[in-house]
Amino acid sequence: MNPFSLTGRTALVTGANTGIGQAIAVALGQAGAYVICAGRSSCDETVAQIGQAETLHLDLADPMAMGAVFADRRVDILVNNAGIIRRNDSVDFTEADWDDVLNVNLKAVFFGCQAFAKAALKDDRAAKIVNIASLLSFQGGIRVPSYTASKHGVAGLTKLLANEWAAQGINVNAIAPGYIETNNTEALRADTDRNKAILDRIPAGRWGAPEDIAQTAVFLASPAANYIHGAIINVDGGWLAR
Ligand code: NAP
Repeated sequence: MNPFSLTGRTALVTGANTGIGQAIAVALGQAGAYVICAGRSSCDETVAQIGQAETLHLDLADPMAMGAVFADRRVDILVNNAGIIRRNDSVDFTEADWDDVLNVNLKAVFFGCQAFAKAALKDDRAAKIVNIASLLSFQGGIRVPSYTASKHGVAGLTKLLANEWAAQGINVNAIAPGYIETNNTEALRADTDRNKAILDRIPAGRWGAPEDIAQTAVFLASPAANYIHGAIINVDGGWLAR
């Protein structure tokens, strides 16, 4: 049996309509998984690319939205990818920009993991969780206070949940993507000075593509990662090594 194969597994990816989530959903499908492509926007394009896949409407502005998802379907792999970012000087940052980001990026991740793990633990099944963290799980960033707080939170939660569930066969790990070309970073790439400063610091000398993240998610979702718990893998073109 190929330890990197996901044949026979079902995966749910949040925010699978675009960007990193779309690339992960496609890669999980290529590795053999049946993929539930979840999001607030249509995931039809992703489903069409995968084939053995379906769409699930899921708006994580309600952080408890994943609560009932695992009651009537067996899911082996949960990828918490959906995330938002709001930029403003900290002195002007609003409560809405704090709450909206924390709800989607952190509260929905915790309660999604909880609902997923409850179902797996009840059936005594092995399962995998892959959270999408960030360089801002380690660094401070600038003008993104709620995002930085949420992604530090994702890193902490990944370790805490790994501690609680590792012995019961649930692997909880995260990926910290570097600077990846998606909607999330459009404003940064449009700012010539920031774009240059970022590129100058990336040892690989280029922005990452969503596909650069996808195979690490496949690895963490596969039996090859059975003894990896609470890890946060940087996929950042060398940014954090600098
Ligand atoms: P993106 O293209 O903006 O994708 C974000 C995804 O999250 C979209 O599918 C979006 O759906 C979904 N989403 C947002 N709010 C949602 C909600 N309320 N309910 C359900 N889905 C929602 O950005 P991305 O770069 O691929 O981001 C994916 C993840 O990677 C995020 O967690 C982000 O923080 C993280 N990340 C990105 C980078 C980077 O450089 N791009 C770096 C580090 C970490 P809509 O299309 O409907 O908005």
